[in-house]
Amino acid sequence: MSKVFVIDTHKQPQAPVHPGRARLLLTAGQAAVWRRYPFTIILKTAIKQPSLEPLRLKIDPGSQTTGLALVQDATGEVVWAAELTHRGKRIKGRLDRRRALRRSRRQRKTRYRKPRFQNRHSRQGRLPPSLESRVCSILTWVARVIRLTPIGAISQELVRFDSQRIQQPEISGSAYQQGTLAGYEIREYLLEKWQRACTYCGATGAPLQVEHIQSRARGGTNRVSNLCLACEPCNLTKGTQNIRDFLATRPEVLARVLSQAQTPLTDAAAVNASRWHLFERLKATGLPVETGSGGLTKYNRSQRNLPKCHWLDAACVGTSTPEQLAVAGVVPLLIEATGHGTRQMCGTDEHGFPTRHRQRKKVHWGYQTGDLVRAVVPRGKYAGVHVGRVLARATGSFDIRTKQGRQQGINHRHCRPIHRNDGYSYQKGVPYAGPAIPST
Ligand SMILES: [Zn+2]
Repeated sequence: MSKVFVIDTHKQPQAPVHPGRARLLLTAGQAAVWRRYPFTIILKTAIKQPSLEPLRLKIDPGSQTTGLALVQDATGEVVWAAELTHRGKRIKGRLDRRRALRRSRRQRKTRYRKPRFQNRHSRQGRLPPSLESRVCSILTWVARVIRLTPIGAISQELVRFDSQRIQQPEISGSAYQQGTLAGYEIREYLLEKWQRACTYCGATGAPLQVEHIQSRARGGTNRVSNLCLACEPCNLTKGTQNIRDFLATRPEVLARVLSQAQTPLTDAAAVNASRWHLFERLKATGLPVETGSGGLTKYNRSQRNLPKCHWLDAACVGTSTPEQLAVAGVVPLLIEATGHGTRQMCGTDEHGFPTRHRQRKKVHWGYQTGDLVRAVVPRGKYAGVHVGRVLARATGSFDIRTKQGRQQGINHRHCRPIHRNDGYSYQKGVPYAGPAIPST
């Protein structure tokens, strides 16, 4: 069950409560809604609250979506969960566009100037803006959650596979066994080693199976140097054939597979730069930070018979994961980073020529674009109740983006704010229903 965050009269975090209890407090007038997303109530008077049990905030950082879960270590209860969708790709797109625009302007207007791009240098250990935004939005949410609920520790998935656990896989000859923790680590290791693609046909996206280069029937071992990844069609076609017969018509693939099979992967492949950055900056919060590997996360998840999704992956990060995770009825909050608009004062057409100018003012009639509002329109073409994201105009005639579509020309007088724009948009996820979904 997803719980409701509570802060006391001094805005200090209290233990989260059951939604039913929150409803009672709200109807009795003992509390008020403090924030809509994530749903938080503020107590109006000093009421005796359940004792503070610090929770563990667990993070599974992904390139597009990051899973967040708040877990009570002692009981295994998942108190709150969220999936945070990043905007790294959009940032890169915008920067590319800006670069092209400036380059063409310099070509047109100041062609005589000497190039200056070579006397620039960037700060040491700098992340590219798209990755920096991923790290920053995760840290934003860590800070928000810390303000709303007592947090005792943080768990983060840091590496893809734990090379300590598979001990120099190619050299010491650790063997793959399906279903064991080491087996999961080796699977992640193989995914990294073969670039998450079928070794034989290069297919990505399809489920990949662990494949013996020299098949078991022909005396091939389970050692990592004899393993690669194949999609199902390739795996079936190859069967127990000798690799040299199977790839007889494609000698370049054969040469690549044989040489790559013998090359061990370096440890550096297990971590990526933005996860390290995140780890260093999570440590700066002063809370103990536990780290886990992707292999361990998958192992934990399949041991507990949980399906694959970002917030459940987050709940399964690290060795501290409780034996039983109580996840029934948890409704993940789907958060999407939308940014805070643009600073550009002058919009251009596709050739870089200025076509439109913006006002310095962002707030019109008390609303700014991105606020979530509820509009009750008494009469006219758009009579009815509309809830959604507002597009504020200086004229006072707003557009509201609702689930039913865009409602145009709604007067600001009919609107009431629900949630002020804070750089993110929100949706309710699907409640987690069944406990047991067979893992693959
Ligand atoms: Zn294939």
